Amino acid sequence: MSEHSAPQTRHRLLVVEDEASIRALLETTLRLTGYEVSSADSGASALLEVERFGPDLVLLDVMLPDLDGFEVTRSMRAAGNDTPVLFLTARVDLSDRIAGLRSGGDDYVTKPFSIEEVLLRIQAILRRTGPEETAAGGAGGERTLLLFADLRLDPDAHEVHRGERYVPLSPTEFQLLGYLMANSNRVLSRAQIVRHVWGYDFAGDARIVETYVKYLRKKIDRFDPPLIHTVRGIGYCLRLPREHDQDRAAERAADR
Ligand code: CA
Repeated sequence: MSEHSAPQTRHRLLVVEDEASIRALLETTLRLTGYEVSSADSGASALLEVERFGPDLVLLDVMLPDLDGFEVTRSMRAAGNDTPVLFLTARVDLSDRIAGLRSGGDDYVTKPFSIEEVLLRIQAILRRTGPEETAAGGAGGERTLLLFADLRLDPDAHEVHRGERYVPLSPTEFQLLGYLMANSNRVLSRAQIVRHVWGYDFAGDARIVETYVKYLRKKIDRFDPPLIHTVRGIGYCLRLPREHDQDRAAERAADR
């Protein structure tokens, strides 16, 4: 595990897991990696600890004795807490994964997991949800306002507007839209999107991209014209509609 060097700033991680052996393994490994760690063994105690400890990220077991991990996440979000959540789930079927993401989680790892995988995902989430590095040089380096059609994404204010309408997005949706906008009119493969937005190769599970594109469409493309287009068998493209999109637009309208 030597390639996982200690983080520069000590991020605070909350481990929520009712199985003592897994909890101990995670706590020990994360401390050795350089994180500040606290833990909880139930959903109720997790919610208290989120308030008390103020973690930068919550590792959240889905199957807990009281509230399940999805309910914990919903409670956090309902209370206005947007701390990123990485689910640990023994369930493997996709509908649970999607339920998890819909409840406001940022990513998931299925049990049995390798600790390496957990560390990689933690790093990826902290990288994309943490404060932007001032790589542009100097404090508060300027980042570019992205514009496409009537979409406006302001990275400094962390705001998206479609026309005059403010569109609230989660950190991951924001990241995804930013990537699409920065590459407008170019087709991006699911693999490219996963690498860029999630920060690592998703071991072939590009369905997370489909799930997030679906969320994004619900927020961005409920206004006309639709801008996020599926390129069959390849990926997605942010562009203005073309004539051959008309049939699909009609289908969409019929769905409304
Ligand atoms: Ca459990």
